[in-house]
Amino acid sequence: SSKWARARAILKEFEEKCGTPDAKLKQVADAMTVEMHAGLASEGGSKLKMLISYVDNLPTGDEEGVFYALDLGGTNFRVLRVQLGGKDGGIVHQEFAEASIPPNLMVGTSEALFDYIAAELAKFVAEEEEKFHQPPGKQRELGFTFSFPIMQTSINSGTLIRWTKGFSIDDTVGQDVVAELTKAMQRKGIDMRVSALVNDTVGTLAGGRFSSKDVSIAVILGTGTNAAYVERAQAIPKWHGPLPKSGEMVINMEWGNFRSSHLPLTEYDHAMDTDSLNPGEQIFEKICSGMYLGEILRRVLLRMAEEAGIFGDEVPPKLKNQFILRTPEMSAMHHDTSSDLRVVGDKLKDILEISNTSLKTRRLVVELCNIVATRGARLAAAGVLGIVKKMGRDTPRESGQEKIVVAMDGGLYEHYTEYRKCLENTLVELLGEEMATSIVFEHANDGSGIGAALLAASNSLYV
Ligand code: ADP
Ligand code: MG
Repeated sequence: SSKWARARAILKEFEEKCGTPDAKLKQVADAMTVEMHAGLASEGGSKLKMLISYVDNLPTGDEEGVFYALDLGGTNFRVLRVQLGGKDGGIVHQEFAEASIPPNLMVGTSEALFDYIAAELAKFVAEEEEKFHQPPGKQRELGFTFSFPIMQTSINSGTLIRWTKGFSIDDTVGQDVVAELTKAMQRKGIDMRVSALVNDTVGTLAGGRFSSKDVSIAVILGTGTNAAYVERAQAIPKWHGPLPKSGEMVINMEWGNFRSSHLPLTEYDHAMDTDSLNPGEQIFEKICSGMYLGEILRRVLLRMAEEAGIFGDEVPPKLKNQFILRTPEMSAMHHDTSSDLRVVGDKLKDILEISNTSLKTRRLVVELCNIVATRGARLAAAGVLGIVKKMGRDTPRESGQEKIVVAMDGGLYEHYTEYRKCLENTLVELLGEEMATSIVFEHANDGSGIGAALLAASNSLYV
């Protein structure tokens, strides 16, 4: 029927606009490398902030003692306690508590947000066993993982550049987030010192390095997306401080804000961006990360409902709600292996109140999931290639050179299997089988929290 012809036409056009042939991905990777150079050359030299992390030594494995971490990511936040065993001792003990951020606190006041976090931290500490208590006169030490762009001023201070991922709290911007947290901890009577302020990518790099010495890149694919890597200090023209002894500096790229004329953007992306809390910003993040994939899918489905009536004569009202279709649900539909696509049918019914969908309609939905996820995963792979190129590791290695391990984390990477497989296959495709053997992806489970605790240890006042 003409209805189906119209739906297919919308799909075809979307698919074409989302196309990521290898040649395009290589252009994206090259553009990423160029922007990395520009961001390192001068402050404000690029959309890529290439932030200096003040981490010039990654964990050695010799760290010892009880340390805390607080991980504020976007969707959830976690409090951790990690007991490190010293040389060859590894992680003796770890424990965590998790809470979600109430949506009203994401757009409220700075004080309310930090009070909430400090209250959860106070609860965690109050419940802990005696054996974890610090000796008299010694403060507990905490690594604070704060996954938003920060202009770092030292290893344990830094001001918020701007919020992302649906947060919008004006009075935090420009403030030192460690000072904000410290004040809130004092209000709640917690005796704790923030020893390290780290981005989640930097934490993941540190946590990954603890278990595998070849880790030199970390990528987060969760609510948002970002990457960090180990750069030669000499290759950072904008760094005017003393050269670190190690000769290295971890750079937090803030790659979510990457953009390039080579990125395949569609009308749906432009509309979503316009309607977002941060229009014009985080364009790479808006096509690759978990916060947005489901929303892009919703927008295409809405168009198909309006113009091709794929869900009947009336447009299902729920389908008009922004962000109603979340990426975990999209992922569940994409992975539906049942012959009648039962999961797709159930999700459409439960989330959008669309009942009695035909198999044909369900197949169309799965096809759309695949287009959206494939574009995101392939672009993320191109981003990794850009870093590998910047590190000069995209050509056959000299003998003796180690492989590069990329520490990966985030809910999207962890749970969206099709996305993850596509990302990994794409890097092999781009580098060629042989070169690709020297780049290894490793899931650094909760690396960002453990990494922050490790960095709190290496920046402890008491060693
Ligand atoms: P954050 O990025 O907020 O620190 P996570 O790394 O846990 O937190 O990532 C959470 C995000 O991961 C969710 O917002 C969602 O987009 C994505 N996600 C979680 N579970 C799944 C899933 N099953 N399938 C696809 N994406 C998922
Ligand atoms: Mg996180």
